[in-house]
Amino acid sequence: MAKRIGILGGMSPESTAAYYEIITRTYTERFGDYGYPEILIYSVSFQSYVDWPNAGRWDLVAEGLRQAGRTLEAAGADFLLIATNTMHMVFDEVQAGVTIPVLSLLDVVSEAILARGMTRVGLLGTRFTMEKPFYQDALARRGITVLTPDAEDRVYVHRVIYEELVAGQILDASRAGYQRVVEKLVARGAEGIILGCTEIPLLITEADVAVPLFDTTRLHAEAALEYALASV
Ligand code: GLU
Repeated sequence: MAKRIGILGGMSPESTAAYYEIITRTYTERFGDYGYPEILIYSVSFQSYVDWPNAGRWDLVAEGLRQAGRTLEAAGADFLLIATNTMHMVFDEVQAGVTIPVLSLLDVVSEAILARGMTRVGLLGTRFTMEKPFYQDALARRGITVLTPDAEDRVYVHRVIYEELVAGQILDASRAGYQRVVEKLVARGAEGIILGCTEIPLLITEADVAVPLFDTTRLHAEAALEYALASV
């Protein structure tokens, strides 16, 4: 019996839907049947998780996600995913609030980068992901150097996420804008680029750029499937 997956989602719904689709489709592509693991999704009301970080209230983010995690655990989840890069800011608090494991996206993306033999990568994400130390420090502990866009480009990348991607708006102009940001990171020595926001893979793919991309949504969802299927 596979482990039951608990997804802390809704941040945003666009990427939570992608997690669900990747887990179930990947299973069927691999095994040819519909015996995918059971999945519980707790979809938060996203506005609070936009407002609280903007107000610096990470304590409220942590408390909200801890409660949601406990609800998933009580409902029978065997492990949890926080289905967003940004909210890994409060990973330790969520993990401390439940007795089941939380599968870290930062561990998964680090392993993927090292498996490709890379140690210097660019990072696109929300301003919290690009500017707070939690993300870069976690990768630095594994010997990975992270390059972030310059200040103007960080504002741009962040704005496209919250004004377009979380609402499911995929615009050619923004794809071109992201391509320019990626090119600058590559010119500074990035061997690959982390799509460090779970909506960015909706906008750009490897066909759009010259270097390998680390699609955190796909990597995290596929790791969850592997973990669910690994013997209990
Ligand atoms: N999904 C996004 C991420 O992976 C940002 C949305 C959010 O959680 O605030 O960081």
